Amino acid sequence: MSPRPIVVVGAGLSGLATAVLLAQRGRRVVVLERSATAGGRARSPAVGPLPMNLGAHALYRGGVAERTLRACGVAPRGFSPPLDGMVLTRNGEVLPAPTGTASLLWSRWLPFAAKASLVRALASLGREARRVDAGLSWGDWLEQQPSPQAASVLSMLARVATYADAPAQLAAAPVLAQLERAVGRGVTYVDGGWEVLVHALLERARVLGVEVRLSAPVDEVSEDGRSVQLTGGAALDADATVLAVPLRVASELTHTPSVRAFAAAALPSRVASWDAVVSRLPNPARRVAQGLETPTYFSVHSPVKAEPLRVHAHWVLRPGEKGAAVLPALQRWLDVVQPGLSACVVAERSLPELQVADAMPTTQDTLRPTVQLGAALYAAAEYAQPAAFLLDAALGAAQSVVQSLTSAALRRSA
Ligand SMILES: Cc1cc2nc3c(=O)[nH]c(=O)nc-3n(C[C@H](O)[C@H](O)[C@H](O)COP(=O)(O)OP(=O)(O)OC[C@H]3O[C@@H](n4cnc5c(N)ncnc54)[C@H](O)[C@@H]3O)c2cc1C
Repeated sequence: MSPRPIVVVGAGLSGLATAVLLAQRGRRVVVLERSATAGGRARSPAVGPLPMNLGAHALYRGGVAERTLRACGVAPRGFSPPLDGMVLTRNGEVLPAPTGTASLLWSRWLPFAAKASLVRALASLGREARRVDAGLSWGDWLEQQPSPQAASVLSMLARVATYADAPAQLAAAPVLAQLERAVGRGVTYVDGGWEVLVHALLERARVLGVEVRLSAPVDEVSEDGRSVQLTGGAALDADATVLAVPLRVASELTHTPSVRAFAAAALPSRVASWDAVVSRLPNPARRVAQGLETPTYFSVHSPVKAEPLRVHAHWVLRPGEKGAAVLPALQRWLDVVQPGLSACVVAERSLPELQVADAMPTTQDTLRPTVQLGAALYAAAEYAQPAAFLLDAALGAAQSVVQSLTSAALRRSA
């Protein structure tokens, strides 16, 4: 074993999963985390009596993220949002959301031609994802649909599945693939919030002998990844360094020109979020709601009979849109979906600008870096994974980093 460790910067889910996968392969790993707590965007700080995710978090079933967690020895437990509790809003009216072909065909608020177009589109998402040109934007793909009403439903579903409202910039192919996953396999709301995953990974890391240093911010990483400078002056020699930090931080830590250039050009996705614990739902039949012409979302993240309940609502922000400005409109929309909800609030938290992802897949993705940034410098982060979204992108990058480091070690020992 090399006397120098692999240093992982950042103890969010990507950093912790990378550390566990490397330690499982016999590598010595040190994780350096700036905060006093691990987890990053997957922390679940309490709102009143209950731990709650920072905004609505759903784990995509059967995706890379779930597979990677399982490979780390972590089995996510939870429940799916019930299909019969889904509604959508259109011009201030609440309508039952189609949850499958049969319910779609029976729905009375769409003309027949729109229903037929929607059924065809939903049945061919995967094929379309493989067929369309990489340069085609999601907005252009929607324009090509024969029914504008069907296109607006698809646009609404895509906003929820990607947390993005930038049709002109987003690439159509990855959006279609993400929609196929969301519609086909569904999601899990993790019991106890995503911090349960963080704690499980921390425990696996501890058992495998990974050294996790909290309150250990990194100031600088050499361009080749062999040396890491901590705030306060201490330095660490590394066999390799894995950056599992947001793109902006990575560009500040490394001075790598390609990362800096990409950070300046990347398209982030952001939401204005309202997280609350409520004593009850004024309308218990409405557990998930989406806006057809507003980028709004509401969801209950507690099982059906639980009380009090966790609820999340958010507004997906367009590029440049200010979160604080849309929060009142989000509350007005909630009054339509759940009239009287504000009287049931036990505790609440508004987070006007949460950065969900640093670099969405766009039609102009030529600057996106690969996971290997330098001779021994790697990025286990969502921005280094092309054509993927959310935690699937982040843990996909973590898997690629581990493969690259394992191949490099095998080459050295050959
Ligand atoms: C509102 C919201 C909703 C989301 N919903 C979903 C969802 O439904 N499904 C899904 O799959 N994904 C979702 N995501 C995305 C998911 O949360 C992220 O992809 C994932 O948590 C990213 O993990 P990470 O480890 O890559 O980064 P982070 O969680 O950002 O972790 C980075 C870590 O690096 C640390 N750090 C930063 N600077 C330094 C430094 N200088 N030195 C040392 N450490 C440092 C930070 O403190 C942090 O702990 C959502 C995100 C948000 C914000």
